[in-house]
Amino acid sequence: MPDQIPAQFQVLDERFAGVGGDRFVQRVFDGGRWLEGPAYAPAGRFLLFSDIPNDRVLRYDEVSGRTDVFATPADFPNGRTLDPQGRFVSCEHGARRVTRLEHDGSVTVLADRWQGRRLNSPNDVVVRSDGSVWFTDPDYGIQSDYEGHRGTSEIGARHVFRLDPGTGALDVVADDFVQPNGLAFSADEQRLFVVDSDRHTIRVFDVEGAALHGGEVFAADDLGYDGVRFDDEGRLWGAAQDGVHCYHPDGTLLGKLLLPEIVANLEFGGPQRNHLYLTATTSLYTLRVNVRGARPRR
Ligand code: MG
Repeated sequence: MPDQIPAQFQVLDERFAGVGGDRFVQRVFDGGRWLEGPAYAPAGRFLLFSDIPNDRVLRYDEVSGRTDVFATPADFPNGRTLDPQGRFVSCEHGARRVTRLEHDGSVTVLADRWQGRRLNSPNDVVVRSDGSVWFTDPDYGIQSDYEGHRGTSEIGARHVFRLDPGTGALDVVADDFVQPNGLAFSADEQRLFVVDSDRHTIRVFDVEGAALHGGEVFAADDLGYDGVRFDDEGRLWGAAQDGVHCYHPDGTLLGKLLLPEIVANLEFGGPQRNHLYLTATTSLYTLRVNVRGARPRR
């Protein structure tokens, strides 16, 4: 495949007509098996991302354009985010846990058990500005040895969890998913959007303190979604089978950026948060766009 492909923005609603960017999408890395977990570090101008079946974390340097191995083995890493203090928080299928990479290089285990039972295989994670850690725990990572270690679910269900930053308590905040996956907070952090990748839906919850309410379907697609991120105009971008889909806050599918590989997740990076990064099966794609990622709350 060439190292650049035409940027195909598909306009489905006139409100998407002004969204665009580079004429070509750059394919800056093509050596992965199944890429996921992009998280951008503004101070270092690099992107960490996961190559799950290859059991490694990769690091794309935005300045040099190089991609190097950051860590391997890496406990079959999946989703990743940057917390308000600028630390990477990662989901690990292999160790069935959520961890934080501290500034001194040490690793802190944030969650690996609920009520004494091991988690399934945490998939994706977000950290609210109050320090609470919200993550999904489907069982994809224990179904086979392809993306972790084959095992049984000790919990026997697939939940959305919240880790309390003060007490360290881990609580179920949603228990009616088939396979919870990507998740993202609205800019005001009053709503949480969570993908159910088996039901092919994105659901929206009202955040009330440590609890979630509601959970109606915000969007649905024939083939479903994986990771989701917001831009700074409140539009939700979802990683999908044919590229990324962009939703207006009212739930309308505005348009798509089509790609030749299945997209698992996306991230906005760059000094102005207008570099769109797409982890798509074997490749990391990037292009400069005329929208910005949501500004993280601190
Ligand atoms: Mg995912």
